[in-house]
Amino acid sequence: DIYVLRLGHRPFRDKRITTHVALVARAFGARGIFIEGEDNQLLKSIYNVLDQWGGKSYFNIEFVSNPKTLVKSWKERGGKVVHLTMYGINIINKLSDFDQINSPLLVIVGSEKVEGWYYYNSDYNIAVGNQPHSEVSALAIFLDRIYKGEELNISFSDAKLTIIPKERGKKVVKNE
Ligand code: SAM
Repeated sequence: DIYVLRLGHRPFRDKRITTHVALVARAFGARGIFIEGEDNQLLKSIYNVLDQWGGKSYFNIEFVSNPKTLVKSWKERGGKVVHLTMYGINIINKLSDFDQINSPLLVIVGSEKVEGWYYYNSDYNIAVGNQPHSEVSALAIFLDRIYKGEELNISFSDAKLTIIPKERGKKVVKNE
């Protein structure tokens, strides 16, 4: 199972982007997200999506005040920690390592500058290409590489709304 740790969430500046990190996590197969800090409005908007589009029992959201404690206890319990950073080893050269890991993964994404501590205490520092982009794209592509595209077939049994794919226009059905 994969969980995401979103570092350095600033309620005013990052609301939209942290929401997108959470939506990417849910849509592409992660089991939950830990968010550093506290932000009730953010929680509300993610819960809204879970309520309408499903995943309430599948996808967990938790705020953490001390992410280093989470990282340490994750490793103590046998999990592996992956920090996504443009300075790391390109994912294309590390995929075979991940194919062999069965432990739960904690995938860290930052906001502005990530403290050096995370570079030294993560099991892997992984780049999604060695160019700067964003935590949203980095997480999406990382999950896609790990799940080899299978995450694109995800669906949630508790969804109130389901999209019927169409070449043109929109079709959404309400589930009973
Ligand atoms: N300048 C920041 C730094 O020194 O780490 C990065 C800021 S970037 C807007 C925010 C987050 O996006 C990073 O912490 C990292 O998790 C992710 N990110 C951006 N580009 C990446 C890349 N090429 N590979 C992996 N992660 C990346």
